[in-house]
Amino acid sequence: MSHNPLLADWSTPFEVPPFAEIAPAHFKEAFDTGMTEARAEIDAIADSLEAPTFQNTIVALETAGERLSRAARTFYNLTGAHTNPELQALEREMAPKFAKHGSETVLNEALFKRIDALWEARETLGLDAEALKVLERYHKMFQRAGAGLDADGKTRIAEISQELASLGTSFAQNVLKDEADYKLVLEGEADLAGLPDFLIAAAAEAARERGLEGKYVITLSRSLIEPFLQFSTNRPLRETAFRAWSARGEGGGETDNREIVERTLSLRNEKARLLGFESYAHYKLDDTMAKTPEAVRELLTKVWTPALARAKEEEAKLTEAARAEGGNFQIAPWDWRHYAEKVRKAEFDLDEAELKPYLQLDRIIDAAFDTATQLFGVTFEERKDITVYHPDVRVFEMKDRDGNHAGLFLGDYFARPSKRSGAWMSAFRSQHKLKGEVTPIIVNVMNFSKGAPGEATLLTFDDARTLFHEFGHGLHGLLSNVTYPMISGTSVARDFVELPSQLYEHWLGQPEVLSRFATHYKTGEPMPKALLDKLKAAENFNQGFATVEYTSCALIDLNLHLIEKPEGLDVTEYERESLEELDMPSSITMRHRIPHFAHAFAGEGYSAGYYSYMWSEVMDADAFGAFEEAGNVFDRAAAERLYTNIYSAGGKPDPAEAYEAFRGRAPKIDALLKGRGLAA
Ligand SMILES: [Zn+2]
Repeated sequence: MSHNPLLADWSTPFEVPPFAEIAPAHFKEAFDTGMTEARAEIDAIADSLEAPTFQNTIVALETAGERLSRAARTFYNLTGAHTNPELQALEREMAPKFAKHGSETVLNEALFKRIDALWEARETLGLDAEALKVLERYHKMFQRAGAGLDADGKTRIAEISQELASLGTSFAQNVLKDEADYKLVLEGEADLAGLPDFLIAAAAEAARERGLEGKYVITLSRSLIEPFLQFSTNRPLRETAFRAWSARGEGGGETDNREIVERTLSLRNEKARLLGFESYAHYKLDDTMAKTPEAVRELLTKVWTPALARAKEEEAKLTEAARAEGGNFQIAPWDWRHYAEKVRKAEFDLDEAELKPYLQLDRIIDAAFDTATQLFGVTFEERKDITVYHPDVRVFEMKDRDGNHAGLFLGDYFARPSKRSGAWMSAFRSQHKLKGEVTPIIVNVMNFSKGAPGEATLLTFDDARTLFHEFGHGLHGLLSNVTYPMISGTSVARDFVELPSQLYEHWLGQPEVLSRFATHYKTGEPMPKALLDKLKAAENFNQGFATVEYTSCALIDLNLHLIEKPEGLDVTEYERESLEELDMPSSITMRHRIPHFAHAFAGEGYSAGYYSYMWSEVMDADAFGAFEEAGNVFDRAAAERLYTNIYSAGGKPDPAEAYEAFRGRAPKIDALLKGRGLAA
């Protein structure tokens, strides 16, 4: 291959990947070349004849393999946000190769000896607190990967890592395929019964994108299917749509994920035991704030018990609402959102269709930026001169208080068949200072349904909250102010990482923010005070349902990773039995059923870690109190402490200490229970 842009120097603004020049075929060569290069650099560190120093070992590792990681970041951002069959095939091919490459590094004996020697001598090296933390992270990373095992153990652990990487890739691709393949085509009045204008417009747009001009399509994207379940008065159609949504990864055939789950759990269990842990959950939690499965269970149980009681009360009300209109049936999962919407309207006079015209995507983006400006002094300006990977992606430059360039933010907001579902933040480049001031390039990816051409895109309140959530993660990456890549931005304990994102959601609901940015898409009028008040009053509505659908997932994720012998596990049966044991109401399903539970099975990220959202919520609910107590949601002093200890600190401080430095004390669970309306 002649010119490969992935291997050349990037002369684009801010060294954004040169997307316009990159073709899928470039990745393979870049990976092959990059891996050879990285291996040589790492081997040189390991085999150096010089005595190990922090500089020649840790700093050298921090900057090794740069061309490989640059290409890999570009690649994995694309396979998540804008993939195609060629990239997917390469993704499957590369998963075990990257795992092998990783294993060869962390299982390199000579390299671990150097790191271990530094770790043993850490008190004498004259390192500052940040460097010491980085050394600790390296030592722990190698240990947890099996660096201390004998030769046989190392061989086996490397095999397991490769197979797990392949399984995780297949799991994610299967879910994406099930989602991309499904469409519920609506034609005629009976099919559209009950649907508000915004949803009809979005369904028409989804149909147009699929070449079904003049019809309406509901996809399995949350932004379409949730409002459909809320508003459709056609119960059989609701059932059809819900069943398809719920059966992702469980349809039999090629995209069925159940065997993948069984095999994944078996391999994870084997890996944990090889490393001396009782179970994979014990292994995984050892490197978190929670530390043990018991601590996680204790928190989840404290929430589960009142949430279940609340959900049962809610269900009774929904049953009543269904009866009132002559529906003589048990509330089923495809009924819940529909009747909840009716009860909400009856109790609070609040309906989603009334709210939505005030929630324009562009204005909510502005609100997220403005909140960051008020809290942290940074500003955002759109850049139209930077080419990215899809015309829908927007680029914004972040400047610091003094007007200096401080980072780049990409916003990729709309659902499309080439994008996996969900919402996430990722980095094309992380902030660090090892090669001068390297500024971050951060992306937020979402799945909102796009408004019709020329029309504003309108969000649900949940969508708007998701935008704030991901932008909170985005700021954690953008405001990062550390020296080493290892601890940059969101490189913190998994059960701490949701603090900056969930905390950020709190600002969206503030009258100070909504009254300015929630403006009607036609009249430009701000959201009326009465509507703001109703929104506030209905804040805890349906929290039994939301807490139960989330917490059941967190408990089952934990339990799955505690199973002593996962070999031969019947996933469907296990899920059924577990839910029965939990006394899960039949009208609610897990937010993510096991066969499409990507957090747990599309890679190791949130495996035995889905509880992290709740763990972080103990902190974020409590943290916002610092602003409330100051009587100002943008209080300067609290914002300054938040910036110093959390948003800019990356993985530098111990998470519990970082929280206390911000709040002046450890977090209490009271605010979480109160925030969800579950306090006794
Ligand atoms: Zn998050």
